[in-house]
Amino acid sequence: MAEMKKLVIGNWKMNPSLEEARKIAGKLHERLAKEKNLPEVIICPPLPWLIPVKESFSNHILLGAQNAVPGKFGAETGSVSVGMLKPYIQYLIIGHSERRLSGRETHETIALKVRDALKQGVTPVVCVGEFVPLYDKHRRRGRPTRKEAESNIFMQLRRALKNVPLTDFSKLVLAYEPVWAIGTGESASAEYVLQMVKRLRKTLSRLGGRRRATRVRILYGGSVDAKNAADYATTPGVDGVLVGTASLKAPEFMKIVSAFA
Ligand code: PGA
Repeated sequence: MAEMKKLVIGNWKMNPSLEEARKIAGKLHERLAKEKNLPEVIICPPLPWLIPVKESFSNHILLGAQNAVPGKFGAETGSVSVGMLKPYIQYLIIGHSERRLSGRETHETIALKVRDALKQGVTPVVCVGEFVPLYDKHRRRGRPTRKEAESNIFMQLRRALKNVPLTDFSKLVLAYEPVWAIGTGESASAEYVLQMVKRLRKTLSRLGGRRRATRVRILYGGSVDAKNAADYATTPGVDGVLVGTASLKAPEFMKIVSAFA
């Protein structure tokens, strides 16, 4: 079985200015063009910066979108569809907790987006994560209780993938992002991530079969920075990272990329 390429995704969220976006893109392009054996690097800029950023990148970097609605055209004021973005993007972030939180994105909407992205040839990066740590100091090595497990990430995963045909299963990318670690500077320990990723992979096996589940790349996200990236790069079962804050600083992001080389 060919080895899966590691994946480092930068999610710029609603940042930065166009001028700054061009600058970061330019710096990344310069560095990436020089280095070899890199992981796959994806940048997800805000939608209006997608095309200007693409122009600065050539082939060394691929782009993803932070959001899009299923379909191509339609009477949907203010929406941008996967079909419209398809010429510019390879990846689409779906189910990020910042979009789930306000209730704007239901399990149903997320499942529809995942199905549509696959249908249109765009790779979904399906985000799941729990709101509070599942292991506390005393239960560090323990497993989440049944109630905890049922009520959060495993349920999010099952519901997000409910429309995925088995033939598309291994095209998925899963981002495990504990909500308590996002933007807080409180990253999950590598040990914690290891346990959760194992359990997520098991859930994937149940849903799509073991062989297909091993082909799904699972990323960790939540306060990843230049200092902790190597911990995740050496954690078995972690195939890359989804980076928010630290992806806005080109030198720091490049250190994270290098940790996965
Ligand atoms: P962060 O964001 O790296 O700033 O914690 C991660 C994310 O939201 O994807």
